[in-house]
Amino acid sequence: MADVVMPQLGETVTEGTITRWFKQPGDEVAIDEVLFEVSTDKVDSEVPSPAAGVLNEIVVAEGETVDVGVVLARIGDAAAAPAPAAAQAPEVSAEPPSDLPPPVLVPPTTEVGSPPAAAAPAAAAAAPSPAAVPVSATSHHDVIVIGGGPAGYGAALYGAAAGLDFALVEMDKLGGTCLHVGCIPAKELLETAAVVRAIGHADEFGITVGEPSIDFGQVQVRKNKVIDTLTAGVTGLLKHRKVTIYDGVGTLGANRTVTVTGADGAAVAITADHVVLASGSSPRTLPGFEIDGVNVMTSDEVLSLDHVPDRVAIIGGGAIGCEFASMLLDVGSEVTLLEYMPNLIPGADIDCSRVVERAFKGRGMTVNTGVAVSGWEPTADGLKVNFGEGDSVIVDKIAVSVGRAPRSGNLALDGTAVQVDERGFVEIDPLCRTHEPHVYAIGDLVNTAQLAHVGFAEGMMVVKDMLGETPMPIDYGNVPWCIYCHPEVAFAGMTEQQAKDEGFDVVVSKHKYSGNSRAMIIGETDGLVKVIAEKLPDGTGGRILGVHMAGPWVTEQLGQGYLAVNWEATVNEVAQFIQPHPTLSELFGETVLALTGRSLHG
Ligand SMILES: Cc1cc2nc3c(=O)[nH]c(=O)nc-3n(C[C@H](O)[C@H](O)[C@H](O)COP(=O)(O)OP(=O)(O)OC[C@H]3O[C@@H](n4cnc5c(N)ncnc54)[C@H](O)[C@@H]3O)c2cc1C
Repeated sequence: MADVVMPQLGETVTEGTITRWFKQPGDEVAIDEVLFEVSTDKVDSEVPSPAAGVLNEIVVAEGETVDVGVVLARIGDAAAAPAPAAAQAPEVSAEPPSDLPPPVLVPPTTEVGSPPAAAAPAAAAAAPSPAAVPVSATSHHDVIVIGGGPAGYGAALYGAAAGLDFALVEMDKLGGTCLHVGCIPAKELLETAAVVRAIGHADEFGITVGEPSIDFGQVQVRKNKVIDTLTAGVTGLLKHRKVTIYDGVGTLGANRTVTVTGADGAAVAITADHVVLASGSSPRTLPGFEIDGVNVMTSDEVLSLDHVPDRVAIIGGGAIGCEFASMLLDVGSEVTLLEYMPNLIPGADIDCSRVVERAFKGRGMTVNTGVAVSGWEPTADGLKVNFGEGDSVIVDKIAVSVGRAPRSGNLALDGTAVQVDERGFVEIDPLCRTHEPHVYAIGDLVNTAQLAHVGFAEGMMVVKDMLGETPMPIDYGNVPWCIYCHPEVAFAGMTEQQAKDEGFDVVVSKHKYSGNSRAMIIGETDGLVKVIAEKLPDGTGGRILGVHMAGPWVTEQLGQGYLAVNWEATVNEVAQFIQPHPTLSELFGETVLALTGRSLHG
């Protein structure tokens, strides 16, 4: 007897509608014979039978919509039916291939996971476990991950796909900062801003529209719908891969014992061969700017605004601050952006920072760089924010965007050798192993680039390490960075200044979007591509060291630049590749080509 279940036809698909049964109860069916058709919001697909036999029962009728994993039909044995040659998952199944050997975990001894730097004092490791909760025999897992953000759920999905028995402890919502108060809502609101901009330029295309009015309540409804759909997708994927999810706050004690305390105060203790700490981060603020959620906001509150503030001061011109400034400007706020460093988006190449600053100012934003804020006070006209040498601005809201602090304080860690530095980051070695054997830490909790995709990469790396697959450490200097303000910024590898500081003799090529045909077609000609390469004796470019972009859709164009930098490709190698025409990405090709000593258009 075999159950036929609704398959997962895509990463974020959570349900499907049966549009047709090709067999009826009593019919014989062979393995791999098309059994039914399913329609999802992503794809329509004919699904083969997972087993051979007689279709005993159809549980879900044509036209019905059910969740991934729900039993649709039952296939019974048939004397005449051909025996299955090998169990074969549907083409799109998320299950690991059945011909892989079962995963072998590196056993929990102290030989692997040698601590980074000095080992913790033996007394700390021997301290009694804080978990006064009995551990039941059934609550042992291969791996427990604390935190269900991108780093934690990424580790769980990847590890479960490798056949490991994963448990995931989450105290709030699966998806973490990224899904609920980070990447996704921020980009979703920026898309609203893009629609407003497009309407503003409609007349250039011969389309007459009135002044747009914004219903921010509806904006939030759309944003929340995207979040809810993605949350359901992540939840479905975890369940499909049989990850055990524990709701509650997880704390780590000795001997890889994790205590999960639910909202009602009830606690359970679970153990594992390996533990992954992935509790993420929360917004920081500055002295004098205590968060009240009304006047002084963090990113959490900005993303939930139910109206467009008339005047807003954004403190911090990094990636998140620039995204908020850009979004609020486009939807109608009067924006003042205050940045302590001399340039916006510190870390980006100076040429890209300048593109953004010029564009912001051109759209009417007040940008003050190289200024420190000293405090704020309420006045009859609004909130007075003091900055620089006696300067101030009156606004209705203040958004503080000055980075995020690791959330290590709620992990307990008593009785373990896990070390936390003075800023709250858990200390790790290049493979994200903590001082405690078989305990890893990943994502925003550790002092690496605070990016969701870096969290995913760390999650996959630690799973490989558990499996003894000797993974390559992540090259943090070359990870991709994408900032979704308008104009967008994207880069990988060294800036021109970093390359020079590292002692490279460099050659640089810059090309502007103003000469790119697709950029003209879409009416977005602001920005440039900049490629930095090692200088060869003949003055042409050798190895590509950095690719930096500011302009239209550059976050979608960085891919080939990222590969070039990380593959340590040379200018001549990349210049061989043909760029499709007319595309924005032709500009990357032109910029690299120019470093060969000859060019086409540029
Ligand atoms: C406004 C904004 C925009 C951003 N945009 C981008 C972007 O475009 N691209 C990008 O790559 N990154 C972006 N980021 C950063 C990205 O969101 C983070 O790097 C990422 O979410 C970190 O993932 P994480 O899993 O380490 O932590 P988190 O996402 O913070 O998740 C940690 C999870 O652990 C849970 N948790 C904490 N403690 C415990 C405990 N003791 N027990 C159980 N559960 C616990 C939390 O509830 C949370 O769900 C943005 C961030 C913000 C704020």
